Amino acid sequence: MPGLETEVLVIGGGATGAGIAWDCALRGFDCVLVDARDLAMGTSGRFHGLLHSGGRYAVKDPRSARECMEENRIVRRIAAEAVEDTGGLFVATPEDDPAYGDEFRLGCLQAGIPTEEIPVAEALRDEPRLNPGLRRAFRVPDAGIDAWKLVWGLADGAAQHGARILPYHRVTAIHRAGDTVTGARVVDVVTGAELDVHARCTLNASGAWAGQIADLAGCHGVRVLAGKGIMIAMNHRLVNTVVNRLTMPADGDILVPIRTVSVIGTTDIKSEDPDALAVTQDEVDQMLDDGERLVPGFRDARALRVWAGVRPLFSDAKEEVDDTRDVSRSHTLLDHHARDGVSGLFTITGGKLTTFRLMAQDTVDAMCAQLGTARPCRTREAALPAPADGEAVHLGARLRAKEEHLLDEQIVCECELITRRRLEDALRERGTVNLDDVRRSLRLGMGPCQGGFCIPRATGILHGVGQLDGAAANGALRAFLEERWKGVWPILYGDQLRQARLDDWIFQGLLDVEHLPEPREAPA
Ligand SMILES: Cc1cc2nc3c(=O)[nH]c(=O)nc-3n(C[C@H](O)[C@H](O)[C@H](O)COP(=O)(O)OP(=O)(O)OC[C@H]3O[C@@H](n4cnc5c(N)ncnc54)[C@H](O)[C@@H]3O)c2cc1C
Repeated sequence: MPGLETEVLVIGGGATGAGIAWDCALRGFDCVLVDARDLAMGTSGRFHGLLHSGGRYAVKDPRSARECMEENRIVRRIAAEAVEDTGGLFVATPEDDPAYGDEFRLGCLQAGIPTEEIPVAEALRDEPRLNPGLRRAFRVPDAGIDAWKLVWGLADGAAQHGARILPYHRVTAIHRAGDTVTGARVVDVVTGAELDVHARCTLNASGAWAGQIADLAGCHGVRVLAGKGIMIAMNHRLVNTVVNRLTMPADGDILVPIRTVSVIGTTDIKSEDPDALAVTQDEVDQMLDDGERLVPGFRDARALRVWAGVRPLFSDAKEEVDDTRDVSRSHTLLDHHARDGVSGLFTITGGKLTTFRLMAQDTVDAMCAQLGTARPCRTREAALPAPADGEAVHLGARLRAKEEHLLDEQIVCECELITRRRLEDALRERGTVNLDDVRRSLRLGMGPCQGGFCIPRATGILHGVGQLDGAAANGALRAFLEERWKGVWPILYGDQLRQARLDDWIFQGLLDVEHLPEPREAPA
C-alpha cells in the first residue's frame, strides 16, 4: 500500500479544515488535508454567504454572538478579498413585535456588537424595496463572504507553507495502534487508488459527517445533528445591504446580496442523514412568502436556483432534540483522549463559517498541548495570499481591464452600428444630457430593438463621461423610456409584443429601473 508520512492529517476541506491546515502550516507543522470531494463542497459551499455580526444570536445565544463579532473583525482583515462590506440591517416588519428591538439592542451591547438604531425613513431611503410598513431598523456590521475564495485562499496559503492538499480523497478507515490513532486510509475517488496517510495527529473537521469519522476510529456516540436549511437565489440584488428580520431566529428571515444576485434563507429542519438534501415545494413556497414580508413584490423577481446545506450541530446530551434551532451555534472540540481514552485524534464540529478561524485555533492549540509543544497561533495577524484574479467581489475591476482595450471601438448600438467613441463625441458636440437628443442625432434606439440593448449602455456612458451623477443618469434613462413607450404601446401585439416583453425584462429584470435612486430635488 503506498503511503504518505506527515505530522498532522486534517479530514475535511470546508472552512474549518482549511482553516486548520492554514493554522498548522503557519505554526510549522507538516500537514496533509483530505476531502472526499472538491474543497468547500460540503456545508461551506452551500451556506448563506453571510459574515455574521452576531446580531442574529444576540438574544438567544450570547456566546455565539460574541464569537461572531470578534471573528468578523479578524476575517475582514486577514481575508479582505473574500469579504464584501455590505453592512447589515435588522428591521421589524409589520408582523414583528417592535419591543424585541430593545432586547436586541441590549444583547448586542453585551456581546460587543456595534449597533445604531436609525429612522425607518433612512432605512427605506437606503433600501427602497423594503417593506414600507417597517417599524424599527438597526444598523450592524454584517458583511457578505465568498466561501470558495476563503477556503481556496486558506488551502493555497497552507500549500505555500508546505501543506499537501488532496481533494477527492475519501477517508475509508482510521488506523489505530492500541489506544492511539496513527492516520487513515484514503481512496482517491477519481482513480480508485488507495493510500495510507501516517500521521502523529489526526484532526477530524468533517462537519456534519464528523460522527461517521469518529465511528471509524471506534469513538462512538459523537452526535452531530444535521440541521437542513434551504436558500433561494433571486435574479438580481433586491437589496445592497444584508437584511435580517428583527425577531428571534426564524425561517426565511435573512436576505443577503451576493455579487449580482440576492439570496433568501433559510430553514432549519432536523435531518437524519447529512446527504439527504431534497427540497420540497412547500419549503420553496414558504421561503418565497418569507421574502415577500421583507420585500413586497419579492415573487415578481425570478428565482434562479434553490439549494440546501446541513448545519453540523453538536449535541452530546442524551435527550432528544426536536428543534435544531435550540442547539447552540458555538463550536465543540472533542479530545478523544479525554473522552474515549484514544489519543492522537480530535474532533471539531458545530460553529459557523464566520468562526472557522477560532475553531481552527482551538483545535491546533489542543493538539499542541497533547504533543507537548508550544507553538503560538499566528492566524489573527497573517493575511491570506491575494487571489490570482485580483479583487474578489467587485465586477468593476474586470470591466475596467476589459474596457482598456475596447473603449474606442466597442459597439453600443448593434442596430445602427454606433461605436462608443461616436456616442461620446455626439454627447460632447451637442452638449446635451438628454438621450432623446442623441437619438435624433445618431438614430440611437430607433432600430429594431427600440433601445432594449443600447440604451442601458448609453446611460452608463452618459454617466461615465462625467456629465451626470448616478441619480441624474437614472433620470435620463427613465425619461427616454417614457418617451419611447408612447410610440410602442398602441402597437403591442405579435412580434412587437414579444420584443417589448424582452425589453421589459432587460429594464425591469436586470436593471430594476423602477427602483433606481431618484434624482434629488434641487433646493428651492
Ligand atoms: C443553510 C445554512 C446556511 C448557513 N449560513 C451561514 C452563514 O450565512 N454564515 C455563517 O457563518 N455560517 C453559516 N452556516 C453555517 C456554516 O456554513 C457551517 O457551520 C460551516 O460551513 C461548516 O464548515 P465545516 O468546514 O465545519 O464543514 P463542511 O464545510 O461541511 O466541511 C466538511 C467536509 O468534510 C468532508 N468529508 C465528509 N466525510 C469525509 C470523508 N469520509 N473523507 C474525507 N472528507 C470527508 C466533506 O466533503 C466536507 O467538505 C450555514 C449553514 C447552513 C446549513
